[in-house]
Amino acid sequence: RVWNFSAGPAALPESVLRRAAEEMLDWQGKGLSVMEMSHRSPEYTDIFEKTRSDFRKLLNVPETHDVLFMQGGAVGMNAIVPMNLMNGFEQAAFVNTGAWSKKTAKEFSKYGLSRVVLDNANSVADSAVSCYVPECAPLLDRVNGQQMAYLHYCDNETISGVEFNGQVEAIASQLDCPVVADMSSNILSKTLEVSKYGVIYGGAQKNVGPAGVTIVIVDKALLNRALPICPSAFTFGTVAENGSMYNTPPTYSIYIAGLVFEWLIEQGGVQWAQSQAQEKASLLYGTIDSSTLYNCPVRTEDRSRMNVPFTLADESLNARFLSRAAEQGLVQLKGHKSVGGMRASIYNAMPLEGVKALVEFMCEFEKSET
Ligand code: PLP
Repeated sequence: RVWNFSAGPAALPESVLRRAAEEMLDWQGKGLSVMEMSHRSPEYTDIFEKTRSDFRKLLNVPETHDVLFMQGGAVGMNAIVPMNLMNGFEQAAFVNTGAWSKKTAKEFSKYGLSRVVLDNANSVADSAVSCYVPECAPLLDRVNGQQMAYLHYCDNETISGVEFNGQVEAIASQLDCPVVADMSSNILSKTLEVSKYGVIYGGAQKNVGPAGVTIVIVDKALLNRALPICPSAFTFGTVAENGSMYNTPPTYSIYIAGLVFEWLIEQGGVQWAQSQAQEKASLLYGTIDSSTLYNCPVRTEDRSRMNVPFTLADESLNARFLSRAAEQGLVQLKGHKSVGGMRASIYNAMPLEGVKALVEFMCEFEKSET
């Protein structure tokens, strides 16, 4: 197998794929695949409940919060969240740190007045740096007393590689509205204080499993704020009351997510993921910073531990970089079209060995081309 640096759908742990392959035709001697099981069967109920309880364990989700398995992806949540939280409110607050959070605020305008209360699109002190997390303390003044339904931010901007490091969590209890966080691309990579959030959501296809399931952690106090137009299948309260089985859930994606959670628990849980992410990111950013060919546009302290964007000083080398990397079994390194250059996504399932292979290649390439 190659080292796959895709931003998502992303690499899954090899042992998980092997186990899924072994169980594909005959799950635990039952003579059928998990794909073919009724979601109400006792076998599937066991799979589902273990998956949910392992997830709760991994993130230490308190009893005050429900864990829902939904559909529609994180982009679907851009509509599902307002439909669930806007009853009785006219506006919500948004932090804009990049493409994903911007998209969320834009979609919201179908449901209410979207107030961008913090933005990193303006000038930066260091002009060489284009991406950063803005100072979060002003949020308190801009949000409190304004009757906001909630404050939304994206904890890890997958495209530009900008990641928060607890700044919003640290002030959440001083805000007078719930915090909603898009954690699609960094959930399960660091410990969280879940009680500080109203809603945490994420599409599965990075650290959780295959695409198709959206994980939602929601404060039970927010289960009854849905607009009447909210479809029943997307109403948090209805989904919660029915144990995420109001309608057929994406059963196979949830099963694979369960195998990923088992794998992560065996590795040492989220603490393990956090220290591994730190080590991998330091190695890669260290290589970029000590080179004259590679450059990362993100301010040092705000660099994502999951998605590492970098450009080559000579852009005419991009195509050769990608083709020579692919020859070495290093794939899906092309940067997002809006940023250009390269992007290496190094989620939980990417071992340190894969990142070592990448930096070795990058150093060799620099030597041979400059
Ligand atoms: N938010 C973030 C931070 C993402 O990385 C992505 C990318 O997949 C999305 C939202 C969109 O997710 P989906 O394609 O599952 O709707």
